[in-house]
Amino acid sequence: MGSPTLVWLRDDLRIGDNPALHKAVERGEPIVVVYVLEDDSRGLRPLGAASRWWLHQSLTALGDDLEKRGAALTLRTGDAVTVIPDLVDEIGAGAVYWNRRYGKAAREIDTAIKSGLHEQDIEAHSFQGSLMFEPWTIQTGSGTPFKVFTPFYRACLEQPEPRHPYPAPKQLDGLKPEPKSDDLGSWGLLPTKPDWASGLRDRWVPGEHEAHAALERFIGDDLAQYNDRDFPADDTTSHLSPYLRFGEISPFQVWHRVRGDLSAPQRAQAAGFLREVVWREFNYTVLFANPDLATSNYRPEFDAFEWATPEPGEVEAWQQGKTGIPLVDAGMRELWSSGVMHNRVRMVTASFLIKNLLIDWRVGEQWFWDCLVDADEASNPGNWQWVAGSGADAAPYFRVFNPVLQADKFDKHGEYIRQWVPEYGTDDYPEPMVDLKASRAQALAAYADMRTKAGLK
Ligand SMILES: Cc1cc2nc3c(=O)[nH]c(=O)nc-3n(C[C@H](O)[C@H](O)[C@H](O)COP(=O)(O)OP(=O)(O)OC[C@H]3O[C@@H](n4cnc5c(N)ncnc54)[C@H](O)[C@@H]3O)c2cc1C
Repeated sequence: MGSPTLVWLRDDLRIGDNPALHKAVERGEPIVVVYVLEDDSRGLRPLGAASRWWLHQSLTALGDDLEKRGAALTLRTGDAVTVIPDLVDEIGAGAVYWNRRYGKAAREIDTAIKSGLHEQDIEAHSFQGSLMFEPWTIQTGSGTPFKVFTPFYRACLEQPEPRHPYPAPKQLDGLKPEPKSDDLGSWGLLPTKPDWASGLRDRWVPGEHEAHAALERFIGDDLAQYNDRDFPADDTTSHLSPYLRFGEISPFQVWHRVRGDLSAPQRAQAAGFLREVVWREFNYTVLFANPDLATSNYRPEFDAFEWATPEPGEVEAWQQGKTGIPLVDAGMRELWSSGVMHNRVRMVTASFLIKNLLIDWRVGEQWFWDCLVDADEASNPGNWQWVAGSGADAAPYFRVFNPVLQADKFDKHGEYIRQWVPEYGTDDYPEPMVDLKASRAQALAAYADMRTKAGLK
């Protein structure tokens, strides 16, 4: 027997279009597939509660799919810098393959492991699996990272077409006997008491199979109307975000499916949809150049912004959807119940916290991080900073969404609000916790003050 190949899966929990797995099959030796629960080791951001729920389901689905093809999923916990080399020793691996990740802590871990393996003459290779346009490949004419989406997007379109997806291997030569594996249940990823995940169970089926089913449903039912996606009650977006986050579907698969066989009305909207998919890639470019995106203002002048100290109960009212502003409350309740929120409403709820309550964007980012099943280390802080005005934006001005006007425009008949806030319009519904007009004026004054302090005017 030769030396087995270890395939280390991370944010790429799929069998199809998985370059690391594909190359491992090509290598022709028995395969071990491992997932390591790294938690907060070496500065990694610990997963939020909803993401942990998703991860449990996703690993279950992946384990079943691997099993059907002849390989097991080995689960290990701890610091990957020791766990991976230990497993290499244990199975006598001759090669370790993985798909790249882009956060700073993760890159440092991967680099340390790679150099340790190379010192022992063990092959270690990383592949491009999670982004079509890796951060260092798309740069401005002067060789710096793009700070604005539209020119970044144009530069992506000038690149050669992203590669075609690799087919899923039909059969895998899993190493026998299999290495011992943790019991997934022992990882405690699921809630115990209280069991807050019933809304997630009703709403989602994680896993690779369902990711492709969601894409097909979207293409069949909604792609042709993608331009009208801003109406939360219609719910006509793709719902692919958690599947992309956990890599149950790759952006290459999405890209080529949507560039493939479509009707004329679908084709007319395909570019608009793929543009959104590229926003995800842009956020990774921003994260790559700004590793502290979740904790530090992208625009340093915002360091001088005077955030309010929240009144007791204020943050909780926002989190629980009890602000007395119906569109904000509907969005926050949708988030808590289902682990997602419509994009338009994400902007409105974030703007309300930051602009009307003057609460630091990091407070909201952390809540979304904990509650979203698509919580993404680049897109969550990237979008929060965009709403705050402190982020990467073409025309950074201090936009304050008026949640009442937004509801008039995007939930004209109140269907979305009624779905999530059934008591709206009755005596049980609270009065608005702030005056929208006065708080908007206060926010604009705080913004002007910040600019003065930062010497911008
Ligand atoms: C405050 C705030 C926080 C957000 N946090 C996240 C997050 O943690 N994870 C996340 O994936 N998206 C986040 N978004 C972006 C966006 O709201 C979601 O990607 C979208 O709602 C997911 O639904 P969908 O898959 O049906 O989207 P679709 O409209 O069908 O879009 C297809 C895909 O494109 C990508 N995409 C679309 N819009 C954006 C965007 N603005 N930024 C980055 N990628 C985008 C997503 O991968 C999405 O799945 C956030 C937006 C805001 C305003």
